[in-house]
Amino acid sequence: MFLNRLLVHRKLSIREALEVMETSGFGILLLIDQNEVFERTITDGDLRRLILAGFNLDATLENLPQIKSVSVSENYKKKDVFDLMNQFSINHIPVIDACGKVIDVLNRKDFDHHILLSVPHMGDDEKYFVDEAFETNWIAPLGPNVDAFEAELADAVQIRHALAVSSGTAAIHLALRVLGVNLGDRVFCSTLTFAASAFPIVYQGADPIFIDSDKESWNMSPKALERAFEKSKLENWLPKAVIVVNLYGQSADMDLILDICNRYNVPVIEDAAESLGAKYKGKSSGTFGKIGCYSFNGNKIITTSGGGMIVSNDRSLIEKAKFLSTQARDPFLHYQHSEIGYNYRMSNILAGVGRGQLKVLNNRVLQRRKIFEYYKDRLSDIHFLKFMPEPKWSYSNHWLSAITVDKNSPIKSIELIAHLSNEMIEARPVWKPMHLQPVFSKSRYFTADDVSISDDLFLNGICLPSSSNMTNNDLEMVVQSIRKIFGVK
Ligand SMILES: *Cc1c(COP(=O)(O)O)cnc(C)c1O
Repeated sequence: MFLNRLLVHRKLSIREALEVMETSGFGILLLIDQNEVFERTITDGDLRRLILAGFNLDATLENLPQIKSVSVSENYKKKDVFDLMNQFSINHIPVIDACGKVIDVLNRKDFDHHILLSVPHMGDDEKYFVDEAFETNWIAPLGPNVDAFEAELADAVQIRHALAVSSGTAAIHLALRVLGVNLGDRVFCSTLTFAASAFPIVYQGADPIFIDSDKESWNMSPKALERAFEKSKLENWLPKAVIVVNLYGQSADMDLILDICNRYNVPVIEDAAESLGAKYKGKSSGTFGKIGCYSFNGNKIITTSGGGMIVSNDRSLIEKAKFLSTQARDPFLHYQHSEIGYNYRMSNILAGVGRGQLKVLNNRVLQRRKIFEYYKDRLSDIHFLKFMPEPKWSYSNHWLSAITVDKNSPIKSIELIAHLSNEMIEARPVWKPMHLQPVFSKSRYFTADDVSISDDLFLNGICLPSSSNMTNNDLEMVVQSIRKIFGVK
């Protein structure tokens, strides 16, 4: 085995050591004593320094100083090895057993690989559209890529109007603005979400009121929503809008939610930042509310590195959003403003990236769904793990593969996340619900009954690496790593 070619004793001459190093091609030697116990690592630099110190090639390695080299024990953590390699700028680390013997040498190339949660995945055409923008000097914001990206996205999700903006957060903010949400208004919002769903409510000086999830979809519970409306009616007010989040690529149960909201005549904003390409009862997620919002942030299913889109079948809403997103300029040659606006439009360069990405959206959905199926297939025998349910009305894009760890599991979700992190695999807890966030500690919160479903999902939920460009090898590494900590082969 290759290891034997690296082991040398102190009685070896410098010349012999150099010859061994030359034939092994490894760039290091491992010095061991008569009992084969590891002493230190020798680099070619160490040998060069002996010669420069005046030793000739026949001098032995006895002359090497005794130093303590970096090594790891058998149950090393991948992450620690990688950190050590970086800290000491070395490419190899010997593994030493309990008796002090070398049993392996770890090579940087096997450790220089993080498996991340969700990374960008470019297709073939993004560069073409960006190059075209450069060649035609359409570098300024707006331009033909923006118009085309809007039209192509509207076509892809089958909606009439779309407006490309600088982020998903900007899209939600504009949606609230055009629906007339203002100081002192109230807005219902799914609690189990990323903070960007709720922050824009506060930008408008309105108060968010959070709604719990249901078990079936992890999304807004129609029952909890109904309770919130009943309570509001009793107190003689109504929310100005309802923000429904489609979590991890899965649509909420829109028929039930729209039923309730229509009864109270309150408009729905669909936060579809995570669910582009997903479907509810065969129709595109994001097209059910009065307004839908998508995100093209770097971690989403397709990305423009940063961007968003606001969509609606109501032309006047999108026109108003367009006006506000370009600094609310009144139609005069001189700059005149009667309202406060924003600089929220997408640039022509980024829209070029978006056009390329949109071409591969369907493919990305299939890849992410395959990843979910892979995990399910390879991990379902671990009964402590449950997969995010996909109701029969849902066709999720499985942006992130989410699981929960049973309360009775010997391994808790945070331990699993820490274990994966040690193996250089990025996993994250499910979003921390908004009603548990310090910044929203004074906000109201409605559940369907006495238990808070989202609290449990947060406590036990984990998102596994789900990038559409993960290799089978990456996937299997995640699976093996999880099987290992649960002690199953
Ligand atoms: C990513 C995300 C947003 C915000 O989108 P940005 O483009 O990052 O501003 C909003 N809501 C949800 C649910 C998201 O996941």
